[in-house]
Amino acid sequence: MTKTNAELWERRLKAVPHGVGTMHPRFAATAQNAEITDIEGKRYIDFATGIAVCNTGHSDPRITEAVKDQLNHFSHTCFQVNPYESYIELAEKLNDLAPGDTPKKTIFLTTGAEAVENAIKIARAHTGRPGVIAFKGGFHGRTMMGMALTGKVAPYKIGFGPFPSEVFHAPFPIDYHGVSAEDSLAALEGIFKSDIEPNRVAAIILEPVQGEGGFYAAPTAFMKALRKICDDHGIMLIADEIQTGFARTGKLFATEHMGIEPDLMTVAKAMAGGFPISGVIGKADIMDAAAPGGLGGTYGGSVLGCVAGLKVLDIIREDNLCARANEIGALFNQRLLAMQADDDRIGNVRNLGAMIAIELVKEGDANKPNAELTSALVKHAAEKGLILLACGIRGNVIRFLPALTASNDILNEGLDILEASLKKL
Ligand code: PMP
Repeated sequence: MTKTNAELWERRLKAVPHGVGTMHPRFAATAQNAEITDIEGKRYIDFATGIAVCNTGHSDPRITEAVKDQLNHFSHTCFQVNPYESYIELAEKLNDLAPGDTPKKTIFLTTGAEAVENAIKIARAHTGRPGVIAFKGGFHGRTMMGMALTGKVAPYKIGFGPFPSEVFHAPFPIDYHGVSAEDSLAALEGIFKSDIEPNRVAAIILEPVQGEGGFYAAPTAFMKALRKICDDHGIMLIADEIQTGFARTGKLFATEHMGIEPDLMTVAKAMAGGFPISGVIGKADIMDAAAPGGLGGTYGGSVLGCVAGLKVLDIIREDNLCARANEIGALFNQRLLAMQADDDRIGNVRNLGAMIAIELVKEGDANKPNAELTSALVKHAAEKGLILLACGIRGNVIRFLPALTASNDILNEGLDILEASLKKL
Protein backbone atom coordinates (compact mmCIF):
# COMPACT_ATOMS: atom_id res chain seq x y z
CA MET A 1 0.00 0.00 0.00
CA THR A 2 1.39 3.42 -0.92
CA LYS A 3 1.91 5.66 2.09
CA THR A 4 1.41 9.42 2.07
CA ASN A 5 3.58 12.12 3.60
CA ALA A 6 0.71 13.00 5.94
CA GLU A 7 0.42 9.42 7.23
CA LEU A 8 4.14 9.13 7.88
CA TRP A 9 4.16 12.56 9.52
CA GLU A 10 1.48 11.38 11.97
CA ARG A 11 3.59 8.34 12.81
CA ARG A 12 6.72 10.47 13.11
CA LEU A 13 4.98 12.77 15.62
CA LYS A 14 3.99 9.78 17.75
CA ALA A 15 7.26 7.84 17.50
CA VAL A 16 10.03 10.47 17.39
CA PRO A 17 10.60 13.24 19.96
CA HIS A 18 9.87 16.87 19.12
CA GLY A 19 13.49 17.77 19.94
CA VAL A 20 14.52 16.39 16.55
CA GLY A 21 13.46 19.26 14.33
CA THR A 22 12.32 18.28 10.83
CA MET A 23 12.22 21.10 8.34
CA HIS A 24 10.10 19.53 5.63
CA PRO A 25 7.29 16.99 6.20
CA ARG A 26 8.23 15.40 2.89
CA PHE A 27 9.62 11.89 3.14
CA ALA A 28 12.41 10.98 0.76
CA ALA A 29 11.98 7.99 -1.54
CA THR A 30 14.94 8.44 -3.90
CA ALA A 31 17.59 11.08 -4.57
CA GLN A 32 19.77 11.52 -7.65
CA ASN A 33 22.41 14.21 -8.04
CA ALA A 34 20.59 17.52 -7.29
CA GLU A 35 17.04 16.14 -7.11
CA ILE A 36 14.97 14.36 -4.49
CA THR A 37 11.70 12.49 -5.08
CA ASP A 38 9.33 12.00 -2.16
CA ILE A 39 7.17 8.98 -1.39
CA GLU A 40 4.23 10.57 -3.23
CA GLY A 41 6.33 10.89 -6.39
CA LYS A 42 6.80 14.67 -6.13
CA ARG A 43 10.15 15.94 -7.43
CA TYR A 44 12.23 18.59 -5.65
CA ILE A 45 15.35 20.48 -6.60
CA ASP A 46 17.64 20.19 -3.64
CA PHE A 47 19.48 23.33 -2.49
CA ALA A 48 20.20 21.76 0.92
CA THR A 49 22.21 18.59 0.09
CA GLY A 50 21.34 17.10 3.48
CA ILE A 51 22.98 20.15 5.16
CA ALA A 52 26.16 20.47 3.10
CA VAL A 53 26.80 16.73 2.87
CA CYS A 54 26.18 15.73 -0.74
CA ASN A 55 28.56 18.21 -2.41
CA THR A 56 29.22 15.42 -4.90
CA GLY A 57 25.48 15.00 -5.55
CA HIS A 58 23.11 12.32 -4.32
CA SER A 59 23.90 8.69 -5.13
CA ASP A 60 26.97 9.19 -7.32
CA PRO A 61 27.51 5.73 -8.82
CA ARG A 62 31.27 5.96 -8.21
CA ILE A 63 30.63 6.20 -4.44
CA THR A 64 27.79 3.66 -4.45
CA GLU A 65 29.95 1.09 -6.28
CA ALA A 66 32.91 1.59 -3.92
CA VAL A 67 30.68 1.08 -0.87
CA LYS A 68 28.97 -1.98 -2.42
CA ASP A 69 32.35 -3.48 -3.17
CA GLN A 70 33.46 -2.91 0.43
CA LEU A 71 30.24 -4.51 1.72
CA ASN A 72 31.16 -7.64 -0.19
CA HIS A 73 34.34 -7.85 1.93
CA PHE A 74 33.23 -6.61 5.38
CA SER A 75 31.25 -3.74 6.90
CA HIS A 76 32.85 -3.42 10.33
CA THR A 77 35.83 -4.76 12.23
CA CYS A 78 36.58 -1.60 14.27
CA PHE A 79 39.83 0.15 13.39
CA GLN A 80 40.98 -0.30 16.99
CA VAL A 81 40.63 -4.09 16.73
CA ASN A 82 41.46 -5.10 13.16
CA PRO A 83 42.56 -2.04 11.19
CA TYR A 84 42.14 -1.65 7.42
CA GLU A 85 44.07 0.07 4.65
CA SER A 86 41.35 2.51 3.53
CA TYR A 87 41.58 4.36 6.88
CA ILE A 88 45.34 4.80 6.46
CA GLU A 89 45.01 5.80 2.80
CA LEU A 90 42.36 8.42 3.53
CA ALA A 91 44.45 9.79 6.41
CA GLU A 92 47.53 9.99 4.16
CA LYS A 93 45.61 11.82 1.45
CA LEU A 94 44.04 14.33 3.86
CA ASN A 95 47.40 14.90 5.58
CA ASP A 96 48.81 15.90 2.17
CA LEU A 97 45.80 18.01 1.16
CA ALA A 98 45.30 19.94 4.42
CA PRO A 99 46.53 23.56 4.33
CA GLY A 100 50.15 24.25 5.27
CA ASP A 101 53.47 22.41 5.07
CA THR A 102 53.74 21.04 8.61
CA PRO A 103 53.51 17.21 8.65
CA LYS A 104 50.01 16.12 9.64
CA LYS A 105 48.18 13.17 11.19
CA THR A 106 44.45 12.39 11.04
CA ILE A 107 42.03 10.54 13.30
CA PHE A 108 38.57 9.55 12.05
CA LEU A 109 35.39 9.65 14.12
CA THR A 110 31.71 9.45 13.19
CA THR A 111 29.94 12.82 13.54
CA GLY A 112 30.90 16.46 13.34
CA ALA A 113 30.25 17.03 17.04
CA GLU A 114 32.52 14.11 17.88
CA ALA A 115 35.29 15.59 15.75
CA VAL A 116 34.95 18.87 17.66
CA GLU A 117 35.08 17.04 21.01
CA ASN A 118 38.26 15.27 19.93
CA ALA A 119 39.91 18.44 18.64
CA ILE A 120 39.39 20.03 22.07
CA LYS A 121 40.67 16.91 23.85
CA ILE A 122 43.80 16.92 21.68
CA ALA A 123 44.39 20.67 22.18
CA ARG A 124 44.05 20.26 25.95
CA ALA A 125 46.31 17.20 26.05
CA HIS A 126 48.97 19.01 24.01
CA THR A 127 48.92 22.30 25.92
CA GLY A 128 47.97 21.05 29.38
CA ARG A 129 45.58 24.04 29.54
CA PRO A 130 41.82 24.15 30.13
CA GLY A 131 40.42 27.27 28.38
CA VAL A 132 38.71 27.47 24.98
CA ILE A 133 37.57 30.57 23.14
CA ALA A 134 34.84 30.31 20.51
CA PHE A 135 32.67 32.88 18.73
CA LYS A 136 29.15 34.20 19.12
CA GLY A 137 26.96 32.80 16.36
CA GLY A 138 29.29 29.83 15.88
CA PHE A 139 27.97 26.27 15.74
CA HIS A 140 30.01 23.26 16.80
CA GLY A 141 27.53 20.45 17.50
CA ARG A 142 25.01 19.10 19.97
CA THR A 143 27.24 17.22 22.44
CA MET A 144 28.01 18.87 25.80
CA MET A 145 31.26 20.51 24.65
CA GLY A 146 29.73 21.21 21.23
CA MET A 147 26.91 23.10 22.93
CA ALA A 148 29.30 24.92 25.26
CA LEU A 149 31.26 26.14 22.21
CA THR A 150 28.16 26.99 20.18
CA GLY A 151 27.32 30.68 20.32
CA LYS A 152 23.60 30.43 19.63
CA VAL A 153 21.13 29.67 22.43
CA ALA A 154 17.88 28.89 20.58
CA PRO A 155 17.32 26.08 19.82
CA TYR A 156 20.65 24.43 20.58
CA LYS A 157 21.25 25.17 24.26
CA ILE A 158 17.80 25.67 25.78
CA GLY A 159 17.31 23.49 28.83
CA PHE A 160 20.51 21.46 28.41
CA GLY A 161 23.01 23.15 30.76
CA PRO A 162 25.21 23.22 32.73
CA PHE A 163 27.87 23.05 30.04
CA PRO A 164 31.61 22.40 30.43
CA SER A 165 33.31 25.40 31.99
CA GLU A 166 36.26 27.55 30.85
CA VAL A 167 34.60 28.33 27.50
CA PHE A 168 34.35 31.99 26.44
CA HIS A 169 32.83 33.69 23.39
CA ALA A 170 34.09 36.64 21.37
CA PRO A 171 31.98 38.45 18.76
CA PHE A 172 32.49 37.21 15.20
CA PRO A 173 33.46 39.93 12.71
CA ILE A 174 30.47 40.71 10.47
CA ASP A 175 30.71 43.97 8.54
CA TYR A 176 27.03 43.82 7.56
CA HIS A 177 26.16 43.98 11.26
CA GLY A 178 28.72 46.63 12.12
CA VAL A 179 31.26 44.35 13.82
CA SER A 180 34.69 44.89 12.31
CA ALA A 181 37.70 42.58 12.62
CA GLU A 182 39.22 45.19 14.94
CA ASP A 183 36.12 45.13 17.20
CA SER A 184 36.32 41.37 17.37
CA LEU A 185 40.05 41.34 18.17
CA ALA A 186 39.54 44.02 20.84
CA ALA A 187 36.86 41.85 22.44
CA LEU A 188 39.26 38.89 22.40
CA GLU A 189 41.86 40.99 24.21
CA GLY A 190 39.05 41.88 26.63
CA ILE A 191 38.49 38.19 27.36
CA PHE A 192 42.21 37.87 28.16
CA LYS A 193 41.81 40.76 30.62
CA SER A 194 38.48 39.92 32.22
CA ASP A 195 37.95 36.16 31.92
CA ILE A 196 41.06 34.03 31.37
CA GLU A 197 44.76 34.73 30.92
CA PRO A 198 46.09 33.65 27.51
CA ASN A 199 48.55 31.13 28.96
CA ARG A 200 45.59 29.15 30.33
CA VAL A 201 43.85 29.00 26.92
CA ALA A 202 44.27 25.69 25.07
CA ALA A 203 42.46 26.65 21.88
CA ILE A 204 40.62 29.21 19.83
CA ILE A 205 38.03 27.49 17.62
CA LEU A 206 36.09 29.05 14.76
CA GLU A 207 34.41 28.29 11.48
CA PRO A 208 36.26 30.07 8.64
CA VAL A 209 32.77 30.79 7.30
CA GLN A 210 30.10 30.63 9.99
CA GLY A 211 27.49 28.10 8.87
CA GLU A 212 24.42 27.77 11.09
CA GLY A 213 25.16 31.31 12.34
CA GLY A 214 24.38 32.82 8.93
CA PHE A 215 27.12 32.23 6.30
CA TYR A 216 29.54 34.99 7.29
CA ALA A 217 33.13 34.59 6.07
CA ALA A 218 35.92 35.56 8.44
CA PRO A 219 38.08 38.27 6.85
CA THR A 220 41.59 37.13 5.87
CA ALA A 221 43.24 39.81 8.01
CA PHE A 222 41.24 38.57 11.00
CA MET A 223 42.32 34.95 10.47
CA LYS A 224 45.94 36.08 10.16
CA ALA A 225 45.62 38.12 13.38
CA LEU A 226 44.18 35.08 15.17
CA ARG A 227 47.06 32.97 13.88
CA LYS A 228 49.53 35.49 15.36
CA ILE A 229 47.71 35.68 18.73
CA CYS A 230 47.77 31.87 18.92
CA ASP A 231 51.48 31.76 18.01
CA ASP A 232 52.33 34.47 20.55
CA HIS A 233 50.58 32.63 23.39
CA GLY A 234 51.01 28.94 22.48
CA ILE A 235 47.26 28.57 21.79
CA MET A 236 45.98 25.97 19.29
CA LEU A 237 44.02 27.46 16.39
CA ILE A 238 41.21 25.06 15.43
CA ALA A 239 39.40 25.59 12.13
CA ASP A 240 35.99 23.91 12.18
CA GLU A 241 35.66 23.05 8.48
CA ILE A 242 32.72 20.71 8.99
CA GLN A 243 30.33 22.78 6.84
CA THR A 244 32.93 24.61 4.72
CA GLY A 245 35.06 21.65 3.64
CA PHE A 246 35.45 19.53 0.53
CA ALA A 247 35.24 22.08 -2.30
CA ARG A 248 32.13 23.88 -1.03
CA THR A 249 33.82 27.29 -0.93
CA GLY A 250 35.84 26.91 -4.14
CA LYS A 251 38.89 25.46 -2.36
CA LEU A 252 39.15 22.04 -0.77
CA PHE A 253 39.15 23.82 2.63
CA ALA A 254 37.98 27.38 3.31
CA THR A 255 41.08 28.27 5.36
CA GLU A 256 43.04 28.04 2.09
CA HIS A 257 41.34 31.30 1.05
CA MET A 258 42.74 32.93 4.15
CA GLY A 259 46.38 31.93 3.80
CA ILE A 260 46.80 30.42 7.26
CA GLU A 261 47.65 26.96 8.57
CA PRO A 262 45.43 25.90 11.47
CA ASP A 263 46.93 23.65 14.16
CA LEU A 264 43.90 21.38 14.06
CA MET A 265 41.00 21.12 11.65
CA THR A 266 37.66 19.35 12.09
CA VAL A 267 36.03 17.77 9.03
CA ALA A 268 32.79 15.80 8.47
CA LYS A 269 29.67 16.23 6.32
CA ALA A 270 30.77 16.32 2.64
CA MET A 271 33.89 14.23 3.22
CA ALA A 272 32.12 10.97 2.36
CA GLY A 273 29.09 12.03 0.31
CA GLY A 274 26.54 10.90 2.89
CA PHE A 275 28.30 8.11 4.78
CA PRO A 276 28.77 9.03 8.44
CA ILE A 277 32.42 9.77 9.07
CA SER A 278 34.28 12.76 10.52
CA GLY A 279 37.86 13.56 11.34
CA VAL A 280 40.44 15.74 13.04
CA ILE A 281 43.41 16.62 10.86
CA GLY A 282 46.29 18.31 12.67
CA LYS A 283 49.98 18.97 13.03
CA ALA A 284 51.56 15.59 13.79
CA ASP A 285 53.25 16.50 17.09
CA ILE A 286 50.01 18.00 18.43
CA MET A 287 47.93 15.04 17.25
CA ASP A 288 50.28 12.67 19.10
CA ALA A 289 49.71 14.36 22.48
CA ALA A 290 46.89 12.07 23.64
CA ALA A 291 47.86 8.77 25.30
CA PRO A 292 47.09 5.53 23.39
CA GLY A 293 43.48 4.52 23.99
CA GLY A 294 42.43 8.08 24.82
CA LEU A 295 41.04 8.70 21.35
CA GLY A 296 38.77 6.61 19.15
CA GLY A 297 35.37 4.95 19.27
CA THR A 298 33.66 1.77 18.08
CA TYR A 299 32.47 3.22 14.78
CA GLY A 300 35.15 5.90 14.41
CA GLY A 301 36.53 5.82 10.87
CA SER A 302 33.98 3.27 9.65
CA VAL A 303 35.35 1.39 6.68
CA LEU A 304 32.29 2.41 4.63
CA GLY A 305 33.03 6.07 5.33
CA CYS A 306 36.71 5.58 4.46
CA VAL A 307 36.07 4.02 1.03
CA ALA A 308 33.39 6.65 0.30
CA GLY A 309 35.77 9.40 1.45
CA LEU A 310 38.48 8.19 -0.94
CA LYS A 311 35.97 8.33 -3.82
CA VAL A 312 34.84 11.83 -2.82
CA LEU A 313 38.43 13.06 -3.12
CA ASP A 314 38.69 11.41 -6.58
CA ILE A 315 35.41 13.00 -7.71
CA ILE A 316 36.41 16.47 -6.48
CA ARG A 317 39.59 16.18 -8.56
CA GLU A 318 38.15 14.42 -11.64
CA ASP A 319 35.08 16.68 -11.89
CA ASN A 320 37.02 19.82 -10.97
CA LEU A 321 34.52 20.64 -8.24
CA CYS A 322 36.49 23.53 -6.69
CA ALA A 323 36.27 25.43 -9.99
CA ARG A 324 32.63 24.39 -10.35
CA ALA A 325 31.85 25.76 -6.85
CA ASN A 326 33.14 29.15 -8.00
CA GLU A 327 31.03 28.99 -11.19
CA ILE A 328 27.95 28.12 -9.14
CA GLY A 329 28.72 30.98 -6.75
CA ALA A 330 28.92 33.40 -9.69
CA LEU A 331 25.67 32.12 -11.23
CA PHE A 332 23.79 32.49 -7.93
CA ASN A 333 25.33 35.88 -7.26
CA GLN A 334 24.17 37.26 -10.58
CA ARG A 335 20.62 35.98 -10.18
CA LEU A 336 20.31 36.92 -6.50
CA LEU A 337 21.66 40.45 -7.04
CA ALA A 338 19.09 40.90 -9.84
CA MET A 339 16.34 39.79 -7.43
CA GLN A 340 17.71 42.16 -4.76
CA ALA A 341 17.52 45.12 -7.19
CA ASP A 342 13.69 44.72 -7.22
CA ASP A 343 13.16 43.70 -3.62
CA ASP A 344 14.37 45.61 -0.56
CA ARG A 345 13.61 42.59 1.63
CA ILE A 346 16.84 41.01 0.33
CA GLY A 347 19.21 42.96 2.56
CA ASN A 348 22.43 41.21 1.62
CA VAL A 349 23.68 38.69 -0.96
CA ARG A 350 26.95 36.93 -0.15
CA ASN A 351 28.98 33.88 -1.12
CA LEU A 352 32.31 32.19 -0.82
CA GLY A 353 32.28 29.77 -3.75
CA ALA A 354 29.08 27.77 -3.51
CA MET A 355 28.46 28.64 0.14
CA ILE A 356 25.81 31.21 -0.75
CA ALA A 357 23.27 33.17 1.29
CA ILE A 358 20.71 35.94 1.25
CA GLU A 359 19.76 37.82 4.39
CA LEU A 360 16.09 38.79 4.56
CA VAL A 361 15.18 42.05 6.27
CA LYS A 362 12.44 44.68 6.34
CA GLU A 363 12.80 47.86 4.24
CA GLY A 364 16.41 47.10 3.37
CA ASP A 365 17.45 47.62 7.00
CA ALA A 366 20.09 45.19 8.31
CA ASN A 367 18.77 45.77 11.83
CA LYS A 368 15.25 44.59 10.97
CA PRO A 369 15.55 40.82 10.48
CA ASN A 370 12.65 39.24 8.60
CA ALA A 371 12.40 35.76 10.11
CA GLU A 372 8.69 35.50 9.19
CA LEU A 373 9.43 35.92 5.48
CA THR A 374 12.33 33.46 5.77
CA SER A 375 10.20 30.63 7.16
CA ALA A 376 7.33 31.43 4.78
CA LEU A 377 9.77 31.26 1.85
CA VAL A 378 11.17 27.88 2.92
CA LYS A 379 7.61 26.50 3.16
CA HIS A 380 6.32 28.04 -0.07
CA ALA A 381 9.38 27.01 -2.11
CA ALA A 382 9.03 23.40 -0.92
CA GLU A 383 5.40 23.37 -2.08
CA LYS A 384 6.67 24.49 -5.49
CA GLY A 385 9.41 21.84 -5.57
CA LEU A 386 12.51 23.49 -4.11
CA ILE A 387 14.21 22.42 -0.88
CA LEU A 388 15.72 25.41 0.92
CA LEU A 389 17.41 25.74 4.31
CA ALA A 390 17.28 28.70 6.65
CA CYS A 391 19.99 29.66 9.12
CA GLY A 392 21.27 32.68 11.00
CA ILE A 393 21.33 33.74 14.61
CA ARG A 394 18.18 35.82 13.90
CA GLY A 395 16.59 33.12 11.71
CA ASN A 396 16.54 35.42 8.65
CA VAL A 397 19.11 33.88 6.31
CA ILE A 398 18.45 31.49 3.44
CA ARG A 399 21.56 29.45 2.70
CA PHE A 400 22.08 27.77 -0.66
CA LEU A 401 24.12 24.58 -0.66
CA PRO A 402 23.44 22.95 -4.04
CA ALA A 403 25.33 19.88 -5.21
CA LEU A 404 28.51 20.98 -6.95
CA THR A 405 27.64 18.44 -9.65
CA ALA A 406 24.30 20.16 -10.46
CA SER A 407 23.80 21.46 -14.03
CA ASN A 408 23.15 25.15 -14.69
CA ASP A 409 19.68 24.18 -15.95
CA ILE A 410 18.73 22.62 -12.63
CA LEU A 411 20.24 25.51 -10.67
CA ASN A 412 18.34 28.06 -12.76
CA GLU A 413 15.14 26.07 -12.42
CA GLY A 414 15.56 26.20 -8.63
CA LEU A 415 16.34 29.91 -8.72
CA ASP A 416 13.21 30.49 -10.85
CA ILE A 417 11.13 28.84 -8.10
CA LEU A 418 12.87 31.01 -5.50
CA GLU A 419 12.18 34.17 -7.50
CA ALA A 420 8.52 33.30 -8.10
CA SER A 421 8.07 32.36 -4.41
CA LEU A 422 9.52 35.67 -3.24
CA LYS A 423 7.19 37.53 -5.58
CA LYS A 424 4.17 35.68 -4.14
CA LEU A 425 5.03 36.40 -0.48
N1 PMP B 1 30.46 22.13 13.26
C1 PMP B 1 29.88 22.76 12.22
C2 PMP B 1 30.57 23.94 11.62
C3 PMP B 1 28.68 22.29 11.70
O1 PMP B 1 28.09 22.95 10.67
C4 PMP B 1 28.07 21.15 12.27
C5 PMP B 1 26.75 20.61 11.73
N2 PMP B 1 25.87 21.52 11.21
C6 PMP B 1 28.72 20.53 13.34
C7 PMP B 1 29.90 21.04 13.80
C8 PMP B 1 28.12 19.30 13.99
O2 PMP B 1 28.14 18.22 13.10
P1 PMP B 1 27.20 16.94 13.36
O3 PMP B 1 25.79 17.41 13.20
O4 PMP B 1 27.63 15.94 12.34
O5 PMP B 1 27.48 16.48 14.76
